[in-house]
Amino acid sequence: MVSRVIPVDDFDLVIFGATGDLAHRKILPGLYRRFVAGQIPKTAQIIGAARTEQDDDAFRAEAKAAIVEFGKVDEGSDTLADFLRHLGYVSIDAKGDGGWDELKSRMRAGAIHAFYFSVAPSLFGDLAEHLARFGIADDHTRIVVEKPFGRDLASAHALNAVLREHFKEEQIYRIDHYLGKETVQNLMAVRFANILFEPLWKSEYVDHVQITVAETVGVAGRGSYYDKSGAIRDMVQNHMMQLLCLIAMEPPYHFDPDAVRDEKLKVIRALEPLEPGDIVRGQYQATEDAPGYTDDAENPASRTESYVALKVRISNWRWQGTPFYLRTGKKLRARTSEIAITFKEPPHSIFDDEGGPKANELVIRLQPNEGMNLKVMIKEPGPGGMRLTQVPLDMSFADALGDDGTDMPDAYERLIMDVIRGNQTLFMRGDEVEAAWAWTDPIIEAWEGSKIRPEPYDAGSSGPEEALRLMHRDNRRWREIRA
Ligand code: NAP
Repeated sequence: MVSRVIPVDDFDLVIFGATGDLAHRKILPGLYRRFVAGQIPKTAQIIGAARTEQDDDAFRAEAKAAIVEFGKVDEGSDTLADFLRHLGYVSIDAKGDGGWDELKSRMRAGAIHAFYFSVAPSLFGDLAEHLARFGIADDHTRIVVEKPFGRDLASAHALNAVLREHFKEEQIYRIDHYLGKETVQNLMAVRFANILFEPLWKSEYVDHVQITVAETVGVAGRGSYYDKSGAIRDMVQNHMMQLLCLIAMEPPYHFDPDAVRDEKLKVIRALEPLEPGDIVRGQYQATEDAPGYTDDAENPASRTESYVALKVRISNWRWQGTPFYLRTGKKLRARTSEIAITFKEPPHSIFDDEGGPKANELVIRLQPNEGMNLKVMIKEPGPGGMRLTQVPLDMSFADALGDDGTDMPDAYERLIMDVIRGNQTLFMRGDEVEAAWAWTDPIIEAWEGSKIRPEPYDAGSSGPEEALRLMHRDNRRWREIRA
């Protein structure tokens, strides 16, 4: 099925940090794909900005190389040459006063103005202040800011305050690229566009929920950055919290930015503080042929976690008594992201079959092979009496939609187009981010104030043994991590 392209209004998009890694790997190739899809208006401008001194042509050559490499596009493509004509460049130091007048002269009246802050968060304030002081920003301007949005509640609060000095909340688009993923949005469609699941979506019928985001890569290459962050800041406070919210939230009254975000916020506020026994931290160990976490982080004394498992409780009517188990880590057995909802066993079995019916399980796979798998009980075929067996109703979205995935916009493409459309549904609101930090801060502080070392685990394993015990204690087990 070819995805429908809804044209957007004419725009001028300025990418601060256009010479950086994120612009090269994601933003520019993403915009190119939208151009190929026919979504970029003929007169739209994409203006790169960074300190590097270069002219429009040099930036076009740089962008071309990035799109060829990361977008896997043929260098001689005429379409690529057409796209590059939309690009321009202005040299600007976020901390200086040069270049801003030129940028202003390039912005067209009547077009939507969006500014992507793809730079270190320490520069957000300088950019916001200059955009305001040089009269480039007005009430309709949109700004896009990247993660990490703070490293604790205080810093997130300070960042929000800096941005709000010059922009209203409706103008600020905080990116969590997880929310731009097709299947993450599908969570809302599955829950709120089907009658089937919602009546059972509560502690009365759900035994527990498991959310897993497993990676096979380590932190080599970005060890010094990661070592200051760790799995809780890097994955739990943002991406996993968003997944948890989409699973746990009440139906919003409408698929509308504030209605959706209000419901997510209520979930975050209902999270109970974690008990010390509800969390396991791990660090991958060196093997004979591969370095361990502390080698990759170049910090032999590091206590930063490359793995974390949590048992989370939500204190509200719907979820009282149903734990949510979250785990995420580096150098694990397989790269996979999934959410598994394990339902309760039927209260009484009418069958003599040994063991009786097993609990139904709904697994929503985010990657790889996005899809859903519902485990149901059936009669085992054959004449051997009424014996029960569990079978998967397995649906790959790509198969079901007759799509090989090449036509699906990736998260960045979708989110940038949402900015131009002025739709904030898939962006985090300031109070949501702060509430998430308010919950994770005490967990991080307790750890930083202790002397405990993370549990070691082998690269290529499912994580530390202690994480298995977190589940066994509750007579439950993690699902196998496999691609
Ligand atoms: P990067 O490769 O270090 O690029 C930083 C960019 O900022 C460069 O274009 C740099 O260009 C520009 N810059 C630095 N100082 C500046 C100044 N004073 N004034 C104007 N421009 C300045 O960083 P990145 O990986 O692209 O990351 C950008 C942002 O995205 C960061 O907030 C990061 O946390 C976030 N992020 C990145 C990724 C990723 O995959 N890379 C993923 C998620 C979030 P000049 O040196 O030419 O000025």
